[in-house]
Amino acid sequence: MSVVAIDGPSGVGKSSTAKEVARRLGCQYLDTGAMYRAMAWLCLNRGVTDPVDVLEQVRGADLEISLSPDEFFVSVDDIDVTEDIRGEDVSANVQTVSGVIDAREELIEMQRAYIAAAPEGIVVEGRDITTVVAPDADVRILMTARDEVRVARRAKEVHGNADAEAIAATQDLVTGRDAKDSATTSFLEAADGVFTLDTSDIDFDQVVETVLQLVKD
Ligand code: C5P
Repeated sequence: MSVVAIDGPSGVGKSSTAKEVARRLGCQYLDTGAMYRAMAWLCLNRGVTDPVDVLEQVRGADLEISLSPDEFFVSVDDIDVTEDIRGEDVSANVQTVSGVIDAREELIEMQRAYIAAAPEGIVVEGRDITTVVAPDADVRILMTARDEVRVARRAKEVHGNADAEAIAATQDLVTGRDAKDSATTSFLEAADGVFTLDTSDIDFDQVVETVLQLVKD
């Protein structure tokens, strides 16, 4: 069984890569960003912003997340939030949760428990997996891509195209969020022993093949 840890900034393609790698390895997949998003959805819904209250919500929530790369879902207190957590509201407010150190600790404990209980191995993606959540993972990768490439990828995902209007609307959602995230997690540079995979000029299949090769080596 292998634990594969993948970190990287937004729009770099971590989720689709991690999912496909998990499928090809026949193992589990954990999207840790979805856990932060689900908790942010809950706090938004309840109008909670104060860090102490955020922690209380995170501690009291019944968070469920699928570990299957084929049937993804996230629920909070039995409400399916799979779609809602991708909304702009959640993206813009997710640091209400991810910026609270004690709330992070709670989610990190859950993440470590999922990893420890993954019989066939697991591909885990996020911002602090290679450094904090699973520094002993068998394979540790930091995915990167030039800013304009990431913004264009996210614009296509969200708006269906990467024209000037879509790029302008997406710019801040990508680079602005990274700037804020880098205050709590260090995903902009690879830590010692972490392989940097620059995806700017290679296609999806090449990215997946590179990760699979690193797992085999
Ligand atoms: O990866 P994704 O864009 O879905 O992550 C959403 C947010 O969750 C990030 O912008 C970041 O604030 C937070 N996050 C984190 N640590 C992780 C994964 C995500 O702080 N391991």
